[in-house]
Amino acid sequence: MDHLPWHVVEAPYQPKENIYWETVCTLANGYMGARGLLEEGFPVEMETFPGTYVAGVFDNYEAQYVELVNVPDFLNARIWIGGEELSLARGRITDYSRTLNMRDGWLERKFAWTGKGGRQTAFSFKRFLSIANPHLALMRVRATPVNHSLAVKMRTALDGTVFNRRQRDWPPLTRVIPIHHLDIAGSGTDGPACGWLGVRTKTTKVDIMECARLVLAGRGRARTRVEGARLVQEMEFRPGKGEECGFDKFTAVFTSRDAKPADLKRLALRESQGAVQAGFDRLLAAHRESWRTRWDNADIRISGDAGAQQGIRFNLFQLSQANARDDSGVNLAAKLLSHTRYKGNCFWDTEIFMFPFFAFTDPHAARNLLLYRYRMLPAARKRAREHWMKGAMYPWMSAHDGSEQCESWEYGECEIHITADVAYAIDQYLKATGDEEFFVRHAAEVFVETARFWTQRVCWNARRRRYTLLSVKGPDEYCSITNNNMFTNYMACFNLELAEMAVAVMRRRHPGEWRRLASRIGFKDGEIAEWQDVRKKMYFNWDKKKDLLIQDDTFLDKQDDDLGKYADRKKPLVEIMPYERIMRVKLLRQTDVVLLNYLLNDKFTRRQKLAAYRFYEPMTTHDSSLSYNTHSIMAAELGMKGAAYAYFKKSCRLDLDDELGAAKSGIHGASLGGTWQTVVMGFGGMRVSKNGVLSFRPLLPDNWTGLSFKVAFRGRIIAVGIDRNGPELSLVSGAPISVLLNGKKVALSR
Ligand code: BGC
Repeated sequence: MDHLPWHVVEAPYQPKENIYWETVCTLANGYMGARGLLEEGFPVEMETFPGTYVAGVFDNYEAQYVELVNVPDFLNARIWIGGEELSLARGRITDYSRTLNMRDGWLERKFAWTGKGGRQTAFSFKRFLSIANPHLALMRVRATPVNHSLAVKMRTALDGTVFNRRQRDWPPLTRVIPIHHLDIAGSGTDGPACGWLGVRTKTTKVDIMECARLVLAGRGRARTRVEGARLVQEMEFRPGKGEECGFDKFTAVFTSRDAKPADLKRLALRESQGAVQAGFDRLLAAHRESWRTRWDNADIRISGDAGAQQGIRFNLFQLSQANARDDSGVNLAAKLLSHTRYKGNCFWDTEIFMFPFFAFTDPHAARNLLLYRYRMLPAARKRAREHWMKGAMYPWMSAHDGSEQCESWEYGECEIHITADVAYAIDQYLKATGDEEFFVRHAAEVFVETARFWTQRVCWNARRRRYTLLSVKGPDEYCSITNNNMFTNYMACFNLELAEMAVAVMRRRHPGEWRRLASRIGFKDGEIAEWQDVRKKMYFNWDKKKDLLIQDDTFLDKQDDDLGKYADRKKPLVEIMPYERIMRVKLLRQTDVVLLNYLLNDKFTRRQKLAAYRFYEPMTTHDSSLSYNTHSIMAAELGMKGAAYAYFKKSCRLDLDDELGAAKSGIHGASLGGTWQTVVMGFGGMRVSKNGVLSFRPLLPDNWTGLSFKVAFRGRIIAVGIDRNGPELSLVSGAPISVLLNGKKVALSR
């Protein structure tokens, strides 16, 4: 692949990599997402994974478990030239290119196809999901006969026959179960070039309405009809040699998450009509303009390293387009809107890995991500109660209603650090924005409720005279269920600290609101002493001589192994080593203590961080995509430039270069956000101290000649530029502010 700054291009056609390209070419606009499927279809079933999704539309596949639903596909186009159907599996393909334009957010495929009798036709397909109007999906299809003047027939559909292909959550992922989630709720036509299809999810009863209108290019006729679960639109053209024909398709999508079911048809008809009036080009211009605004704050420029420049833009593009920035009812799925792996659920991937990008480039979007967790607080309270505890216990996997969606109890019941991760992200948002209103209305309540959970979840160990957290799973999922995972114990204490701080600040600054909140949640004064007691007497297992934090109670008892032995493996260790063995050797799936050192940065000394990095890094398999980025950041902090860059590279091009061989199962959302952190927190050395001071300690990789990015911080936009002459900070907007640069105070003003 060429390392272009703003484009990702497939050229020539790579049918064997079809499923990889489908993932890489995913388009989304937060509201919906569509994998990069070939419009005319792909002949071999196993190498394609069709998927068009609307954020927040889930349906049950089993009693209490839901998955993201495949909604009717609207981006298809079958084409016949003189009766012969276009198929890239036959004939000759020339001048093929598929281009993902990351700056403007569109996908285009162009090629010439020579079918029977040497008849050559040039094709182009262009599509985008509007971020200016997220209910609109647009597609432009063109065919130009090169050396003939045969009749051209085209057919596009709103295809309600789609179904989900369910995979297990854990590899191998080869077994796929088809699940039909949709009932047809209604369909109809509105003239020869317009029609609509309404479907309803079987158990959650979400209505989805799609309305498609065609505008033809060239001499032709259109006909729209209902054919079972499909709304079919057919066109016939009689182009002369060299004469272009085709159509623009304007699809409007609404669901009963947006409006009353009875209003959806009217809304979709109206929206698609407005779209036709505006026209493809004007809508594309508006979409491009919205992207320009987004890139203004989000972009990162890297000079001297084309692979890194393309890679970082791919990360930012995919992350930004997947997020429904105005909708607090949905969150970011681990695979964003690119696949149904992990069933479209969100994990800690959001709070720890993806969230900082939004907190520091688009605080409005960040706020909505947190509001989602606030809206799920009642479900988290219920979950705590079901576990005979007080407070709020967030689920490991969360979808539309905040109930636990993880089917494996050893993760769902035990990977409890998620609750502290949510509190951590809220604190990070408050530090980044100073959003007092959010603190008063939402954050304080979450801090208190989550702190309550920890006081219930700990066990008092009389022998050690310490509180312990037993039967947990830490971030390193190759570890069996364990006791006193360092990450979890520390993050729990931090959560308790946040609650204490919240009560103190509420009492001091917002006594009225605090009284109301305290009475609503039944707060008792004695709770603070309880939190302090747990926090001060929490058990931490470390080797004092080496200043090494021990991952958990049994880690050091495990058998040594040598990761070098498996260096040539093409698959994650879990697919070649029995799970029983993985759990009892000193091999990590992903960072655990090293991540803790990064997150609670000012709680650890450099010596402790170094000891942990040196001890755990050689044992870490990085089988999870969440791991490279943290290693890059901590290597940068510890001054190991080579390692920082090597890990950055893997993280940055993880999906583009298919580092883990898993791009076929969708985009790795956490790695995208983690990569933003490798640049800004790693090479930019950005940190926010406990008392809210922003600081930078840049470290430029040797092969880079420059790096620049912007961060939003407390109502300002600060531009950071680093080149071989050193760093430069400037204030783009907002009031003057002082920050630290390499430990020295710098006053920024405009
Ligand atoms: C990782 C988890 C992660 C999940 C979803 C797993 O492979 O080990 O940490 O939350 O994937 O991305």
